[in-house]
Amino acid sequence: MPLQPALLEQAAARLRAAQRVVVFTGAGVSAESGIPTFRDADGFWQRFPPERFAYWEGLIRTALRRPGELAEFLHAVLEPIATATPNAAHRAIARLAVHVPVKVITQNVDRLHQDAGSREVREVHGSFFEIVDRKRRILRELSRADLATICERLERARQGSLRLPRLLAAIRPLCGLALRGIYKPRLVLFGMQLAEPDWTQAQADTAQADVVLIVGTSGLIFPAANLPNIARRGGASIIHIDPLDPGPPDLWLEGRAGAILPKLVELAFGKE
Ligand code: NAD
Repeated sequence: MPLQPALLEQAAARLRAAQRVVVFTGAGVSAESGIPTFRDADGFWQRFPPERFAYWEGLIRTALRRPGELAEFLHAVLEPIATATPNAAHRAIARLAVHVPVKVITQNVDRLHQDAGSREVREVHGSFFEIVDRKRRILRELSRADLATICERLERARQGSLRLPRLLAAIRPLCGLALRGIYKPRLVLFGMQLAEPDWTQAQADTAQADVVLIVGTSGLIFPAANLPNIARRGGASIIHIDPLDPGPPDLWLEGRAGAILPKLVELAFGKE
């Protein structure tokens, strides 16, 4: 359906009048960078059931019993992130911050907001690019090239009969056992507390915002999905950008983030 100009103008006027904006993003903002959302990707959770792939305990059990399946899952998740670049939506969000103070709160672990130039990014579900120890102290950072190398190794390992030692060798930069214990990416999987200090900051940012733009999230994953409620309680006006209807009472711009966000920012603040 074509975007209604009146709604776009209404959203642009709210942004122009705003003193503090929060942009809350989910997997949909990165879909046009080639990273599939879990819910839209054909049967992702059917192929990789959450009880075996969305909890650390399940992942460890899968590694021990079916290393080939874990290699397949890691490859499916890592490869699109390893090769992704920011799309027009990430760039428009970074441009918005030139005109009004913006805090980006993302559920994504792909680092594309930072690559697009956004400075204040709260990664409430962590990141694939930081390797932490048991106490969540950062040990080192990975690059996209490092992730691509891990994918190539996984691909090669999957060609033979894959046993645990081969899998562990392939993913050594990402996770494993060292002298000081287990190391792994700083990711928030199901059943874990959200990443700190990002989550505390995200709630404070949202409570203080006068406009909250929600982009490409189904709002099903709690507690992050509480942010719109915090925004409403704080009196913020909420604008959704998503092909799917979020339901009343907020303003909904229907469609792809990469098509709508550049138009919205241009309408609000003029051409770059
Ligand atoms: P989700 O998969 O539950 O929902 C995706 C939403 O994006 C849907 O509402 C869909 O309609 C919308 N969407 C799809 N294409 C879009 C587009 N081009 N423009 C705008 N919207 C679009 O995603 P979620 O709510 O973020 O929850 C999934 C969880 O999995 C999150 O924790 C997320 O971090 C994680 N995840 C992250 C990535 C990533 O880092 N890129 C990718 C997949 C999943």
